[in-house]
Amino acid sequence: MSETFTSVAQEEAGFRDRARLSFDLDADICVIGAGLAGLSIALEAARLGASVAVLEGRHIGWNASGNQLGTVMPGFALPLTDLIERIGFEDARELWAMSKEGAEFVRANATEANMPGIGPSDGVLEVSNVDAGDRLISRLQMLHEDFDTEVEGWQVDRVREALKTDRYFHGVYYPQAFQVDGRKYVHGLAALARRAGARIFEDTPVVSIDHSGIRKRIVTPSARLRATHIVLAGNIHLGAPLRRLSETLLPVWRYAGITAPLGERLHEIIAFKGSVMDSDGVDHFRIVDGDRLMWESPETTWAARPQRFAGSVRRRIRSIFPELGHVEITDMFGGATGQTVHGMPQIGQLRKGLWVASGFGRQGMNTSAMAGQLIARSILWGDERWKLFSPFELVWAGGATGRVAGQLVGIWGRASSAAAGSLARYRERARIKDRAREARLAEANRAAGTGPRRPPPGVRPRPAPPPKPAAAEVEPASHDGGVSQ
Ligand SMILES: Cc1cc2nc3c(=O)[nH]c(=O)nc-3n(C[C@H](O)[C@H](O)[C@H](O)COP(=O)(O)OP(=O)(O)OC[C@H]3O[C@@H](n4cnc5c(N)ncnc54)[C@H](O)[C@@H]3O)c2cc1C
Repeated sequence: MSETFTSVAQEEAGFRDRARLSFDLDADICVIGAGLAGLSIALEAARLGASVAVLEGRHIGWNASGNQLGTVMPGFALPLTDLIERIGFEDARELWAMSKEGAEFVRANATEANMPGIGPSDGVLEVSNVDAGDRLISRLQMLHEDFDTEVEGWQVDRVREALKTDRYFHGVYYPQAFQVDGRKYVHGLAALARRAGARIFEDTPVVSIDHSGIRKRIVTPSARLRATHIVLAGNIHLGAPLRRLSETLLPVWRYAGITAPLGERLHEIIAFKGSVMDSDGVDHFRIVDGDRLMWESPETTWAARPQRFAGSVRRRIRSIFPELGHVEITDMFGGATGQTVHGMPQIGQLRKGLWVASGFGRQGMNTSAMAGQLIARSILWGDERWKLFSPFELVWAGGATGRVAGQLVGIWGRASSAAAGSLARYRERARIKDRAREARLAEANRAAGTGPRRPPPGVRPRPAPPPKPAAAEVEPASHDGGVSQ
């Protein structure tokens, strides 16, 4: 720390040219891919004393890792209940704890001293699109008591005080989840890895590997590399080095936009400072640069120019927060995430010295950091905890047919979530109307004094109640019979 006052991110941004591998090289570990996963592994392994070379076909953070929102949560893209169902309670607890360690790895590295402008801030709110307060309570208990995670349950009123929309119901607040400037983080990570001794070569695609011997061979267009370990961290673009591996991932492109400054009205409508995500995994947003809204929502299973989705982001913002009126989108970005069939990342050793770290889906910040720790510590310390991922085998994602099917499943999932959300809002409106009707009825009864209860005009009289029992413990008359559910 003391050798220079220059921050690592400044080093990364200003003081270097992109280096391509143009000479043959030997290393302990060769990492393919300089996204979040590859760089996390390189950083951890270099810190533990290994010689590491990272080979990146384009440039650092070229894909999803350099185009993401920087929200850091515990857990995985796969919902916790599904995880427990799949591998049992005890193993799920261990995996969850490791995912929290991943988040702490990010927190420890993403400091202002290391990465100026990275802007860490605490607190993430997960909001429910349906009115499921009872489910919320059991989820809170489980997270808090069984998974040792600090959470707070927010009632509908509190959520709507923070977010002026009737789209959301209850919320789970994670005070220890946080966010950073996601687009800066990957470059900060590269700078830290370099500082720890890792060598990163860009414009250096790996075209083939020979992983059969003890010393493995890696071929690039202009040089060769030999290493004892290869880590495949190329996500969906890995291609030629191990095409079958790429085919176990369903590529899903996600897009996000940033609005023009929206002024004070933005804070009146969105009073929550951290990231907000809905429980269906459709919308994900937060305020940036004082009064702009950063919003992630559309997704496709084919590559497209992010600019094409500006209109769809704008419409989405308008449908959730109509009071914001027309907003202008000034910047769009996006990237391809690799989704596995089972929803969990692929982390582990495929054969001796050949490792994989991919399939992080839409939750890659903490999970790729966790992969970095697990793989580096296994190679250098013999830590075998990555084996907890063994139940999640490499399953073929179906090639081109799988992508089309994936898109249909995605559309179906979103449509049924939207239907559930509309139904919840319809029920809520019905309850409000019913309460108003009951209040009018009560008022009319009061006005009628002690005389016989006569319904106000337009209200159909109720059938006569059954004869009262003789005993004194009779319940007070209730008016809850007509609530539509
Ligand atoms: C819009 C958007 C918002 C997101 N927001 C969040 C968020 O807020 N929080 C969160 O946790 N996650 C988020 N994610 C998900 C997260 O960005 C990804 O899970 C993560 O970046 C995946 O990292 P990766 O290193 O596996 O893959 P990538 O980022 O795809 O990196 C892989 C790299 O490998 C290189 N490569 C591939 N093949 C080769 C080869 N043969 N030779 C050399 N190099 C190769 C590629 O060029 C690429 O640079 C978001 C994603 C998107 C798209």
